[in-house]
Amino acid sequence: MADKNKHVDLFVIGGGINGAAIARDAIGRGLSVMLAEKNDYASATSSASSKLIHGGLRYLEHFEFSLVREALGERETMLKIAPHLTMPMRFLVPITKDQRRPAWMVWIGLKIYDLLSGHKQMASSGRLSSAEVDQLSRLRKQDLTSVLHYADCWVDDARLVLETLLDARARGADIANQRNVEKIEPAENGYYVHYSQDGHTHIVLARFVVNTGGPWANDVADSTNDTLPRRSLQLVRGSHIVLNMPKPADTTAFTLQNNDGRVIFTIPWQGSKYLVIGTTDQSHTGDPAKAVCTPQERDYLLDCYNRYFAHPGRAATAHDVIWSWAGVRSLVGSDKKSLSKVTRQSKIFAKPCGTGGFVMVYGGKLTTHRRLAEKIMKKLEQMGAKSTPSWTATAPLHGGRYDRETLSQMAENGPDFLPKPIRQRWAFTYGDQIETLFEAVRKNKSQAKLIAPGILKAELHHAVKSEDAKCAQDFLIRRTKLDLTLTPKDKAKVNAWFSKLKRI
Ligand SMILES: Cc1cc2nc3c(=O)[nH]c(=O)nc-3n(C[C@H](O)[C@H](O)[C@H](O)COP(=O)(O)OP(=O)(O)OC[C@H]3O[C@@H](n4cnc5c(N)ncnc54)[C@H](O)[C@@H]3O)c2cc1C
Repeated sequence: MADKNKHVDLFVIGGGINGAAIARDAIGRGLSVMLAEKNDYASATSSASSKLIHGGLRYLEHFEFSLVREALGERETMLKIAPHLTMPMRFLVPITKDQRRPAWMVWIGLKIYDLLSGHKQMASSGRLSSAEVDQLSRLRKQDLTSVLHYADCWVDDARLVLETLLDARARGADIANQRNVEKIEPAENGYYVHYSQDGHTHIVLARFVVNTGGPWANDVADSTNDTLPRRSLQLVRGSHIVLNMPKPADTTAFTLQNNDGRVIFTIPWQGSKYLVIGTTDQSHTGDPAKAVCTPQERDYLLDCYNRYFAHPGRAATAHDVIWSWAGVRSLVGSDKKSLSKVTRQSKIFAKPCGTGGFVMVYGGKLTTHRRLAEKIMKKLEQMGAKSTPSWTATAPLHGGRYDRETLSQMAENGPDFLPKPIRQRWAFTYGDQIETLFEAVRKNKSQAKLIAPGILKAELHHAVKSEDAKCAQDFLIRRTKLDLTLTPKDKAKVNAWFSKLKRI
């Protein structure tokens, strides 16, 4: 039977990037914090992004200068606090004769981008020489007038969420996946939050509740009889497709202008073994959890890719697509605007309740999650929480204590009975936690047992014990991206390992 005596300062609903960032920020400011994620952490939009920590060059067209400046500042911050997950990436922008945005326009955009960023750690933009253009062997040269370049950052989105949450937990927050918020009742000073976990219902009195339910934010709001400051949502689906990296392999990312004026990225992925092409902007109806890349979206992306690149031998087709994903943005904006033009700026609405209150969060960007959390903290202060200084811009995330060079070195010097590719993968998956994994296999050699190609028992134990993985998908799709590389037979071995664990 649930009792109503448990209480916390802040209850966060949703374990995507926004919920994670808010939980981390709040616990570091001395609030007691609980977070509920009904599925796995980052199982929704936050693992289905384009995985860019970027200013968003195209937002300049909509004069969203403050959003771009804020996001560009965050690139620098993420490189400092999560160097194992974030890396600078150079983007090339081919300009052809018939494009809607001519070279001079893109050039001005890039220079504004440079100016807004102050590029402390990032290279500034420019134009490739014709000799450099000649080396881009697969890029079609017909109608090409020039190739510009600029820099942004790439991030492992699912792990960024996870490491933010693990950081919050290490500081004392009560974080759980498979914890579902079912009902919210207003109280005198705050809210009773009813949630289910492990087959039981629990109730906690939270002074403040923050709803970061992403595409489900309004469903969460429906679960209370209080009138909350809700807005109508536009759900917009974006899809990506993955190809094996065509030969000759290209380690450069491209920003392409499609015929309809939309921007499409091609991004080398997983050590340039794969090529990601995205994204689309489609109005979404139905359950956001069931969003998939449709055949139309796949063909749209392939068409754009084939227009710019010569795939070896023939044009790339649906048969070349080995993986895809789709995510749903929850945007607040006018139905009359084209989907690409609706602002990506987050919207925050708060309602006090006695000495507590409820905060609704809509939209936002992966890139600006940390700044969003700071804004939420300000809102809580306006509703009576103690005023505290910001702290998250300089504190390394869980796993983020070492720079990339040090991590490479650690992988190099790791136990020599472990294959080098495993050591290297661990370094840029787990960051400084590689020490824990190395210690586990050094202490107990049985931990080095291979469960499936490239996967040791120690890593699976770590995923379960320290990263809350509950099933093979949690591990193969979000803790790692090994789902891409394993055969169905090898995935079944990981599945079997998790099933055996459940029976123990
Ligand atoms: C295709 C696409 C590409 C993108 N690319 C980029 C990019 O490259 N760079 C960038 O900066 N941004 C990008 N974005 C935006 C970014 O991904 C999103 O802004 C961000 O992931 C939203 O995070 P969130 O935490 O609000 O939502 P989500 O990640 O959707 O998290 C919400 C969570 O709430 C949980 N939840 C819902 N209801 C309940 C309940 N009752 N109880 C408990 N839990 C609940 C859900 O299970 C879910 O995990 C992209 C978005 C899309 C769709």
